[in-house]
Amino acid sequence: MPSRQAAGFMMRWQQPLVVDGEVRTCPGCGGYRDWIGLCLRDDSVWLRCRGGHETKKPGLDAA
Ligand SMILES: [Zn+2]
Repeated sequence: MPSRQAAGFMMRWQQPLVVDGEVRTCPGCGGYRDWIGLCLRDDSVWLRCRGGHETKKPGLDAA
């Protein structure tokens, strides 16, 4: 899990997050909305659900 100091910026998705035509769900709790996206300086993207689970999304476009 990356440290907070490594975070480039954060984004918030309050609506369901759809990637490649599929709604992303949290593997930890099954949640599908109210995500926080952490975009790191190495261009990796992490998604955190409102339950605090984090999932790396290497294919997600940060834009
Ligand atoms: Zn979760």
